[in-house]
Amino acid sequence: MSKACFGIDVGGTTVKMGLVTQDGELLEKQEFVSAHDVGEMFDNIAGHMKEVLGHFPDVECVGAGVGVPGPVIEDRLVRGCANLGWGDVDVAGELGRRTGLPIKAANDANLAAMGEMWQGAGRGCKDLVLLTVGTGLGGGLISGGRMITGFNGGGGEVGHIPSSFHPDWQCGCGKYGCLEATASASGIIRAAREYPQFQERERLTARDVFDAAKDGDPDAQKVVTEAGHAVGHCAAILACVLNPEIILIGGGVSAAGKLLMDPIQETFKLEAFAPNARVPFARAQLGNDAGTFGGAALFFCE
Ligand SMILES: [Zn+2]
Repeated sequence: MSKACFGIDVGGTTVKMGLVTQDGELLEKQEFVSAHDVGEMFDNIAGHMKEVLGHFPDVECVGAGVGVPGPVIEDRLVRGCANLGWGDVDVAGELGRRTGLPIKAANDANLAAMGEMWQGAGRGCKDLVLLTVGTGLGGGLISGGRMITGFNGGGGEVGHIPSSFHPDWQCGCGKYGCLEATASASGIIRAAREYPQFQERERLTARDVFDAAKDGDPDAQKVVTEAGHAVGHCAAILACVLNPEIILIGGGVSAAGKLLMDPIQETFKLEAFAPNARVPFARAQLGNDAGTFGGAALFFCE
């Protein structure tokens, strides 16, 4: 009988989950719309787990690792998820009661870093940084094979590192000048809007700004380069703390490739402490499945 574990990524709009074997094989994936009510959410997740397990009678399920978009303490309790409308929720208790399985919870961005370490671009590394540049900017820090979450779950919040690029721009967290405010897709759009050629566009995406940069628009190039510098600067700070073996860049914005990666690495090389300056950068590999693998990694990478 082979062992498997669920990885479950609970988001504000959808829940993505999968059953992963101890060898890292993703047996089945499911995705469904998030329920507003906490009880209904966990009823739905438990129902889907039961359904999936029904397809694999020869598999021994050892538990479920659940990612939630908020700070998690003691592998079980989340203290507020703004985009789920949750207050304090005992994730492990809610799902454990419904399934009879061992449950571990973690912050979703940290979990993605665990997934990349186990089965993605960080395979074989025990010390790594993941920076996920999307609508927001998240990520996770792994040290000695373990997620850094800190005293009350606020560790590894790489997007909210103070950045000097736009100290007067407010971040989604309420604070001003976070890395996320400058270098996320939202930050890139905001910076581009300062130029007349982008002000006129009713709908503007970060992709539009990257396309303009590729086509030679110097203002767009300036915006993209600045976002890259901001990420590279924070990566240099994180490297001083962690001395990582590899730094991974993921998220939708990372699809811009060299345009973003070059200024990130240029700033990093310039600012990193000498023993860290040669740390390689790579694109994250698991995309939307990172949380699923990360959830299983909570059980299989212990
Ligand atoms: Zn912030």
